[in-house]
Amino acid sequence: MKDTFQREITYLRVSLTDLCNYRCRYCMKERGVEKKSHADLLTLEETFDVISAFKSLGGKKVRFTGGEPLVRRGAVSLIERVGRELDLEIGLTTNGVYLPEHIDRLKDVVSLVNVSIDTLDRDKYRFITMDGNLDDAIAGLVAAKKNVDNVKVNAVLMRGINDDSVKEFADFASDMGVTLRFIELMPFAENNAYDKFGISATEVIDRYGLTLVETVGNAEYYSFADGKRVGFIRPLSNKFCAECNRLRLTSDGKLLPCLHGEGEIDVKPYLKDGNVEDAIKEAISQKPFCHNIDGGKMQTRRMNYIGG
Ligand code: SAM
Ligand code: SF4
Repeated sequence: MKDTFQREITYLRVSLTDLCNYRCRYCMKERGVEKKSHADLLTLEETFDVISAFKSLGGKKVRFTGGEPLVRRGAVSLIERVGRELDLEIGLTTNGVYLPEHIDRLKDVVSLVNVSIDTLDRDKYRFITMDGNLDDAIAGLVAAKKNVDNVKVNAVLMRGINDDSVKEFADFASDMGVTLRFIELMPFAENNAYDKFGISATEVIDRYGLTLVETVGNAEYYSFADGKRVGFIRPLSNKFCAECNRLRLTSDGKLLPCLHGEGEIDVKPYLKDGNVEDAIKEAISQKPFCHNIDGGKMQTRRMNYIGG
């Protein structure tokens, strides 16, 4: 289905929970999140119904995210059901920690796995995730790589954390046989991580003297002199809103037309009335053309709620 700017909206990102085993400094509130009551959450059945309606309206791809999607009880069963009953490309974005225990069930239905690892330095990893263990994330990445063809490592680009280890990361990704992308850290209203760690990818690309090789979706891939590759996703220094094909569903049933916008459509009343397609149509019709972070318009919700 097309939005008012003639963009075909085919990709739904589904946040299964805003809870997480980590509290990354740029994502969560320092004290974590208060658990939502069951009544507030969409059930897995309702989540399936929204995905199914999205598919009926021309949806092609769904990605499960969170919080940490694999901490939601029943997440794997829902993903399996979507794989069994709906003809959609299925992706998963995860910090990797729970992949080893679930990959056997996920491997037959999930074709795209993104594992978020911001640094290969154990101490910095522990610092940025607020006590996470790098070895657990790498074990998850290894499990994904063994079982799924399309595995990517996503790292949020941060000054002082990983901006000086881009080559080391590219070597690591090349050794592992996975695709590497750095994502520009985005500022959010109630989080000052951007003031501490924010850096433009342009600065890093120039510093390393990288050569642009190709653009795939919203990622630009660059090459080092030795041919190793690194991708950059640049929502700030190279806005890709004109190509946006996404809608987001939160775990409490809000459809968000834009990652950085204020609007939301509550799908619950639509689910009750059996016309959830109308909620999706409404959300698509409300998609703004572009975010306006550069104009100072910052999202007040947290990334762990939105799902990235
Ligand atoms: N817990 C899972 C994970 O970390 O992959 C999935 C949810 S997380 C919110 C999804 C993605 O959003 C992660 O790659 C994370 O690094 C990214 N993210 C979170 N906050 C961000 C921010 N302020 N700017 C850019 N990316 C961010
Ligand atoms: Fe959790 Fe992912 Fe947010 Fe880190 S980025 S706190 S792993 S949801």
